[in-house]
Amino acid sequence: MNIIFDYVLFHFQRLYHLPSPLEIGYGLDGRSRVQVTSTTSTFFERQQAKPVQTVWKDWQGTNLTLFFDETPDQPWFTQTEQGHVVVHYDLVASAFYLLSGWQEFYGPERDQFGRYPYKASQQARHRFITKPLVNYYLDILREAVSLAYGQEIKPKLWHGKPFATCLTHDIDFCQSAWKVAGKPALKKGNLGLFLKLAQQKLAGKDAWFNLPQVEHELTQLNAKGTFFFLPESAPYDGHPNADYDVLSQEIQKEIKRISAAGHEIGLHGSHGTGTNARQLQAERDKLPADVKGNRFHYLRFDPVKTPALLEELNFAYDSTLGFPEHFGFRNSYCHPFRLFNFKERRMLPVWEVPLNLMDVTLNHPNYLQLSPAEVMPALTPMLEEIIRFGGVFTLLWHNENFSDYGLSAGRPLFQEITRFLQNRETCFLTAGEVIGLTE
Ligand SMILES: [Zn+2]
Repeated sequence: MNIIFDYVLFHFQRLYHLPSPLEIGYGLDGRSRVQVTSTTSTFFERQQAKPVQTVWKDWQGTNLTLFFDETPDQPWFTQTEQGHVVVHYDLVASAFYLLSGWQEFYGPERDQFGRYPYKASQQARHRFITKPLVNYYLDILREAVSLAYGQEIKPKLWHGKPFATCLTHDIDFCQSAWKVAGKPALKKGNLGLFLKLAQQKLAGKDAWFNLPQVEHELTQLNAKGTFFFLPESAPYDGHPNADYDVLSQEIQKEIKRISAAGHEIGLHGSHGTGTNARQLQAERDKLPADVKGNRFHYLRFDPVKTPALLEELNFAYDSTLGFPEHFGFRNSYCHPFRLFNFKERRMLPVWEVPLNLMDVTLNHPNYLQLSPAEVMPALTPMLEEIIRFGGVFTLLWHNENFSDYGLSAGRPLFQEITRFLQNRETCFLTAGEVIGLTE
């Protein structure tokens, strides 16, 4: 059981300014200043995806799901006569279960892209996709430590700011606004729009070759972004990759220019690279920049094979883990975390910067279909959770959705979301900077 405790403790120690040395035991040892009840269940010795029973218990007005406890009738923790604090619930096991992605590794469910589907998850089943339960568990642990040591335990800040925002842009399309937006316009009889888009394209400035437009929005926020470039243009099983050639002079020049302006360049691994290390590395080699991080195109993360592959290629971080079907907390945590290798039962050196919201999720026919006016009211509770726990909000906004020919009201929506964050005094960071401040 030690690896489970070590994994959870590693993350706990990154959240707070804790007493040092910290005396905390997993199991009731009768000695440690804080003791956390450890489950007698043999769940983690087996290969089952889901614990059999769950109980719910209130913590400061929020009903929390627990996976390894039998009754909600005890207090969260009590103090003994010697001053020791005993936590009566196995918060460690529940935290490990969600944070490590256990259900995805051991669950058989996959969609047509090999992705673990939202509808199979505990987050969908128990409706806590917008509640970072692991942060709640660790918050209870923080209170227990606070009581045992008689001191307030403060959260770590982001350059003095209460929470961070990581603005990211996957660059799939740079050349085809004239086709994707223009042709339907022509069909609807809007010859003028078609001609305008076609003319821009012929002049070498397709409406989606708009990275300066993205940069302009970032500059307004005094923020640097993280741009993930897709170095494969051949379709894969009939599914599109990039509409541009990353080795072309104009794209190489653009990548160097963006990098020199202080933004971060990452790799957008194409279809199939989540299980193909050689191909992923070949794509990385095409980028004229020092690439530390990756996000997979279509969020194609294979829960069984991808973590080890990212380690093999020495990536510092990945930022793929969010559900395309729903915004929120896929691993029930609003901070970066280290991926876990289940076969070898160890924590990997690779960080995950979990993805909270992808623009496409908001109105794709297969996903949520929110109108622009419905977006902020829907997102606000999730954002409030991130602010409450001093976490990181990671947003994916594709470049085409800054143009007039992408997501409806794409640019005003981006502005509305980011203005909200700015008003709440967020610290804008690139993904690499987020990792630098966490590790
Ligand atoms: Zn993509």
